[in-house]
Amino acid sequence: MGRVILSAGHGGYENGTQDPGTIAGGTTEAQEMIRLRDAMVSELRSRRVSVLSVPDDLSQQQTIEWINTRARVGDIALEVHANAAPNPDAKGASVYYITNNNARASDADRLLRGLIAYLPVLSSRGAQPDSNGGVGRLAFCREIIVPSLLAEVGFLTNPDDRALIQNRREDLAAGLVAGLVDCSLAITVRPPRLSRNWHRDERQTPR
Ligand SMILES: [Zn+2]
Repeated sequence: MGRVILSAGHGGYENGTQDPGTIAGGTTEAQEMIRLRDAMVSELRSRRVSVLSVPDDLSQQQTIEWINTRARVGDIALEVHANAAPNPDAKGASVYYITNNNARASDADRLLRGLIAYLPVLSSRGAQPDSNGGVGRLAFCREIIVPSLLAEVGFLTNPDDRALIQNRREDLAAGLVAGLVDCSLAITVRPPRLSRNWHRDERQTPR
């Protein structure tokens, strides 16, 4: 099984200013995602899975470069985020994958199934192509040379989801890790084809 590369969304310096992500309920997305990432690192180590953790002060672009200089065939990368909406009723988890990539769509689905299995009270908004996001693409899904996914583990702006993120962190971490292990095993059985055209190759021959 390959390694897992984990990034906690936000928290880095973008143009000289530290990015807190969403701020809600007296906490920040950056802070909650660092805690979740730390819980995932512990869980992965207890399962004897090799894990790389991206330094928290890196910008989004530096995060991608940091991963790409270290990634090897068989690795999988995940960035964790918490969602936000003006309507506090919006809730649930989604996992984003690079659009038009069937292999990655299956991985997103595996990750989400793992998460919900450990925390059934969390609702699922499904696996989503990154073209569904507000800006039409997610750099984390598109610019990393190994399979990569971006999880929105719940809405920080929803009181129920926020309570899960803060009080059920170990279950969130265990579910995400179970899903990642499933993804990693699926990736390992596919023939390696790491190249500059990794994503494009897979799009041309979906499996
Ligand atoms: Zn975010």
